[in-house]
Amino acid sequence: QIMRESSQIILEVDWFSLMGVITLLCFAPFIVFYFVMACDQYQCSISQPMLELYSGETTLLSIWARSPSFTWSAAKIYAIWVAFQVFLYMCVPDVTHKFIPGYVGGVQDGARTPAGLINKYEINGLQSWLITHALWVANAHYFHWFSPTIIFDNWIPLMWCTNILGYAVSTFAFIKAYLFPTNSEDCKFTGNVFYNYMMGIEFNPRIGKWFDFKLFFNGRPGIVAWTLINLSYMAKQQELYGHVTNSMILVNILQAMYVLDFFWNEAWYLKTIDICHDHFGWYLGWGDCVWLPYLYTLQGLYLVYHPVQLSTAHALAVLLLGLIGYYIFRSTNHQKDLFRRTEGSCSIWGRKPTYIECSYSSADGEIHRSKLLTSGFWGVARHLNYTGDLMGSLSYCAACGFGHLLPYFYIVYMTILLVHRCVRDEHRCSSKYGKDWKRYTNAVPYRLIPAVF
Ligand code: NDP
Repeated sequence: QIMRESSQIILEVDWFSLMGVITLLCFAPFIVFYFVMACDQYQCSISQPMLELYSGETTLLSIWARSPSFTWSAAKIYAIWVAFQVFLYMCVPDVTHKFIPGYVGGVQDGARTPAGLINKYEINGLQSWLITHALWVANAHYFHWFSPTIIFDNWIPLMWCTNILGYAVSTFAFIKAYLFPTNSEDCKFTGNVFYNYMMGIEFNPRIGKWFDFKLFFNGRPGIVAWTLINLSYMAKQQELYGHVTNSMILVNILQAMYVLDFFWNEAWYLKTIDICHDHFGWYLGWGDCVWLPYLYTLQGLYLVYHPVQLSTAHALAVLLLGLIGYYIFRSTNHQKDLFRRTEGSCSIWGRKPTYIECSYSSADGEIHRSKLLTSGFWGVARHLNYTGDLMGSLSYCAACGFGHLLPYFYIVYMTILLVHRCVRDEHRCSSKYGKDWKRYTNAVPYRLIPAVF
């Protein structure tokens, strides 16, 4: 059923979804601006600008006038950055998989698309991350071509540049879907232009054989930049206060772990919802260029303005929460991957896995068989990988202490994102597997937290 849904079918969009799409399209850029501006002008207080606006002490125009505007030097930095990432993605085939044991890189197959295609991907994200960071460190210590605080120093001018790219790439993908789609069979049209623009039409838009929009924009320039942005914040703390706080070190370490995990598992990532089910539109294009680098890094930005030094007990608690969250996140994902790869011929928590046999039909009416794991973390709750992810997210926020709300935006956002994703995924699975999915939810009744939700 779901396959048929995605394959060149005109879908009707209900009013609720449409209002959600239009609200996001209108407000998401302002949310990003608001947080960054609150740090720049109000020491990261998110209530102060509202209160001043309410009391008439300030106006929207004066806030706008005080905000740094677009600069050509930021445009130059950003153009060099994106061009360099395109170069690493397109022109430097992966060699790291040849000498790093256990790492899966190089040319890999993606999942089967609704139209039945299996795309090939060049997995070289880890290599791009390593080269980029080696150059960053070499610059900071030897070459001194630019200051390590360059990202922080141009943060708002860079935001205009990321918006230009985010809108340009989403608009290009939208027009391309009508005029020259990569695979017209995998396009999803709705009768609503806003929905098409936001949620995307093409499934795997590409330029040429290898430039895959989803893989490139999801991973780089956003996720490679994530750790560099944090390093730039760390350098700024050093410059401003003459030392780096333990909270900043924790945020850098915990988030770097998550980023490195992403690149280490980039081949596995080809099988996740982003690549397997989402179409490429503004949601992914703009989200990867602007939302991710600006809002996923708020903790480091906050710590530049508020250099929190945590007590040893607090720091250890944060570290422990982050490590346990990461362990649950990674092990849960690993268990499903291992189970699916070996078709159940593996051991999970020292035992043969238990599972529910299920079937579904694809667009051509053919019946396929699949298995839903009910042991290991997948027997505890249906999405414990999201729970682990949320614990990790909370640890980044808690590293900033309890002085302000702003660093906690991330956990609020991730909770909404992952709960929504969980509901969306379960809806899809329920229509895919029908009564077999019901048997699975009876066997594993909770979604994220056993006995609670
Ligand atoms: P999952 O990896 O959980 O994949 C869900 C799919 O797995 C389902 O659609 C179904 O697909 C299959 N499945 C569901 N239950 C079972 C089961 N019991 N046994 C076997 N297969 C099952 O979700 P995502 O792709 O969303 O997430 C991957 C990771 O990425 C997560 O850890 C998540 O936390 C993280 N993530 C992080 C984000 C961030 O911004 N930081 C954003 C999004 C995700 P099928 O049709 O094959 O049966």
